[in-house]
Amino acid sequence: MTSSIPAPLGLLGGTFDPVHLGHLRLAIELRETLDLAEVRLLPSAQTHLRDVARASAAQRETMLEATLADCVDAGLGLDRRELTRGGVSYTFDTLEAVRNELGVRPLCFLVGVDAWNALPQWHRWRELLDLAHFVIASRPGVTLVRHAETETAWTADPAALRRRPAGHVLACAIPLLPISSTDIRARVAAGRCIDGLVSPAVAAFIARARLYGAG
Ligand code: ATP
Ligand code: MG
Repeated sequence: MTSSIPAPLGLLGGTFDPVHLGHLRLAIELRETLDLAEVRLLPSAQTHLRDVARASAAQRETMLEATLADCVDAGLGLDRRELTRGGVSYTFDTLEAVRNELGVRPLCFLVGVDAWNALPQWHRWRELLDLAHFVIASRPGVTLVRHAETETAWTADPAALRRRPAGHVLACAIPLLPISSTDIRARVAAGRCIDGLVSPAVAAFIARARLYGAG
């Protein structure tokens, strides 16, 4: 009985160094388009420990909490499990743990097209589709790689994601903001203004904590 399956949960993994409005819009657009119950932002543990130009795990978590506090009705949440686990964050380990918690509830792992195209570099990537669906936020003009091993998993029907717990790949053409954390870090280092790229609370935190070489 498909009607008894609960609405899918969305997860958006990333380093969020810092979280920006492109991340928020991706999560919100896909939640609305696919009617997901919730989208949880999933920060990975620190992978650039020696790089002083990066924020610590605790600082990235603080910025995520600050930005989510301004999105009360957006259906967004925070999943801290990779920060808590520490070490290198393998999406496989995370999806396995979430899958154990969810039972048969559908799980959608949301990725930008850049992240999807790099998927074959991920640990145990071929097994990820046993644990979750993949939803790719695509952009007209950006080439989407259809990894041969995923060929049978593709669907164009969003309703298919509600009928089984995992195993589909869907590309969604949603409007994407031309914002990246790399660009934000470079702007801060150059003393330029980042208003309009991150939420006001995140901009204030970056200035106060003097992240990314801020003044
Ligand atoms: P960096 O430049 O440091 O790589 P980033 O902006 O790409 O940072 P990540 O934390 O690496 O942010 O990305 C997390 C997820 O969000 C990835 O799946 C990525 O494709 C997606 N993403 C990042 N920026 C955008 C954006 N502007 N619009 C839609 N998706 C985005
Ligand atoms: Mg990135």
